[in-house]
Amino acid sequence: MFEKVLIANRGEIALRIHRACREMGIRTVAVHSTADDNAMHVRLADESVCIGPPPARDSYLNIPAILSAAAITGADAIHPGLGFLAESADFAAMVEEHGFAFIGPSAEHIRLMGDKVTAKRAAVELGIPVVPGSDGRLADVAAAADWAARIGYPVLVKAAGGGGGRGMRVARSAGEIATAVPAAQGEAKAFFGNGEVYLERYLAKPRHIEVQILADGQGGVIHLGERDCSLQRKHQKILEETPSPALNAAERQQLLALATAAIGKLGYKSAGTLEFLYQDGAFFFIEMNTRLQVEHPISEMVSGIDLVREQIRIAAGAPLGYRQDDVKLTGHAIECRVNAENPETFAPSPGCVTSYHVPGGLGVRVDSALYQGYIVPPHYDSLVAKLIVHGASRNECLMRLRRALEEYVIAGIETTIPLHQRLVAAPDFVNGDYDIHWLERFLARA
Ligand code: ADP
Repeated sequence: MFEKVLIANRGEIALRIHRACREMGIRTVAVHSTADDNAMHVRLADESVCIGPPPARDSYLNIPAILSAAAITGADAIHPGLGFLAESADFAAMVEEHGFAFIGPSAEHIRLMGDKVTAKRAAVELGIPVVPGSDGRLADVAAAADWAARIGYPVLVKAAGGGGGRGMRVARSAGEIATAVPAAQGEAKAFFGNGEVYLERYLAKPRHIEVQILADGQGGVIHLGERDCSLQRKHQKILEETPSPALNAAERQQLLALATAAIGKLGYKSAGTLEFLYQDGAFFFIEMNTRLQVEHPISEMVSGIDLVREQIRIAAGAPLGYRQDDVKLTGHAIECRVNAENPETFAPSPGCVTSYHVPGGLGVRVDSALYQGYIVPPHYDSLVAKLIVHGASRNECLMRLRRALEEYVIAGIETTIPLHQRLVAAPDFVNGDYDIHWLERFLARA
């Protein structure tokens, strides 16, 4: 097993990884920008190294600085967390070339699944149904209009290298294709440095349902159930739950068996998620995330399995510690993403946390790097906390979540807690009756 792990990330996810390491008796190295001198992940780690100024490209994305930090501290392995370098195949390869273990999948699998066009092709080969769409990248507007006529409007223009809901445009007619293609290309080029796009049928009322997989690359593959992440704003997840209130037992079984078999065939290693859209009883693959996800704690709450611990064990060469029969998924779990944003306009709200009180009690977990007096810097993602609640039933989980949201105090900055309070009181949400467009309609009505 590793003796020392460098955590190439910040915020709550750096803390999450630190916690798993400590519980395994592994020492930790934090890296941080000058904006994060006082961050909790730096305070709790055994050692820390400053890797650059505040902009992420000069610090958390600075591969030479991160590899040097690993070398001077004598770390054995690097965990990339999520975001930043977590889906950089080049980073994974360089980590291994420099003699450190990469806590994640192979560079080859990150590369294959990081490009959505090659990922969809791989999915088809693995026997997974995909959203009907263009058979690869589109050269220009004319090629897109051609495909759209074949698929049928409305269509979604998507960036091959996209992520975080960026680089996507809906087109409802040939006229709209002419503006949607350059708009998606421009955004994709600006955010991902890759302007390639493809087309998909735009589903009218799907749910986003994803499967959490753990695989050891030695034949061991298990799933930890599915997550319903349909509550989204601008294609970004806001609240997630497991199990999905939309699936019956037979549909769930079909989805989980399909995903597990595909990952087995792929020979994948580490934690991963297969994302699907679900509409009218059918599942369509949209992408695979070759990393830990923000919403992973809800799967941990219903399974009792520590996903980060398993990632670390697998990276150290150990076989999976569980067979599928050992995995008992019990009760219901919900996660609320708490962002430092105005809950109505969603304008970022960095600044000093003047007072902080965390909810507790049975079945309540808070993953956050906040503390009283901490100054949320303006340079990074606005996610500052995740409130995760578990209950024996969905109803118990909802009652507990309402209670926990009431207790949670984060003063000095604005947060999305009031939005979550409105959501958990909305009859459609209480009934589990929502698709990926529901939240935007709900916000427009208010
Ligand atoms: P990203 O990598 O940016 O998260 P995804 O491909 O995972 O992009 O899609 C993000 C979200 O966009 C999905 O959860 C869903 O809400 C919406 N979406 C993606 N593809 C489609 C589609 N073909 N039809 C309707 N909505 C879609």
